[in-house]
Amino acid sequence: MAANRHTCCLCQQPRHPVEKHHINGDPADNAWDNLAVLCRNCHGLVTGKNNLGTSYTPGEVLQYKIKWEQRCAEAGEDEIDSPIAEVHETKLIEGDEHEVYPFDMEAGDELVFSIDASDCLDIVICDEEDVDEWADRDDDDDDEGDGEGEDDEVDDQDDEEDEDDDGDEDDRPLPEGYWHKTNVITGEEYRFVAEEDGRYVLLLINWDEEATEVTVDAAVWKGG
Ligand SMILES: [Zn+2]
Repeated sequence: MAANRHTCCLCQQPRHPVEKHHINGDPADNAWDNLAVLCRNCHGLVTGKNNLGTSYTPGEVLQYKIKWEQRCAEAGEDEIDSPIAEVHETKLIEGDEHEVYPFDMEAGDELVFSIDASDCLDIVICDEEDVDEWADRDDDDDDEGDGEGEDDEVDDQDDEEDEDDDGDEDDRPLPEGYWHKTNVITGEEYRFVAEEDGRYVLLLINWDEEATEVTVDAAVWKGG
């Protein structure tokens, strides 16, 4: 990923989530010359997933990869847009577990990410302390409004954002965060811009009892 500046070797447009493409079609073959970094869009064009037929032969993809990596290696830090931090991994999140990806960001920095999961996950971007607090939530189970009256501003803000009216969302409290999205399986591209300097945590929650396999792609790009 770093050798490619977290950027697709075909369209070479920075600041998009990327995927690993196996050039010869064999997902077990992770040799250097079989792996190309592609954005989701180009990946679809190459594999023909979008029913458009394949637009590039394996040989052509390899040529693009080699040329792009060469350019990335030769260009200085500032000549080609590069992320400040990046994550690309596939992992198993056990049932009723969560996974955190912390990023140090300055005001204006942008986190661009996508996930690709085998089952639904909730995604939240929040402060580290809020994750800890939330993870300890079972200790003092004070759900909503048990009489404290005045200051339960937290709960009723953005509870009904998306189309989640299948009832059981209510017993899935999320930590207070800057951004959240529920029931995500296969990603679109998500973007989050930090309003102030700080350590932000990308939190993935698996509410299900079964483990979920997820591929996370995330990169932080300098603001401006
Ligand atoms: Zn691309």
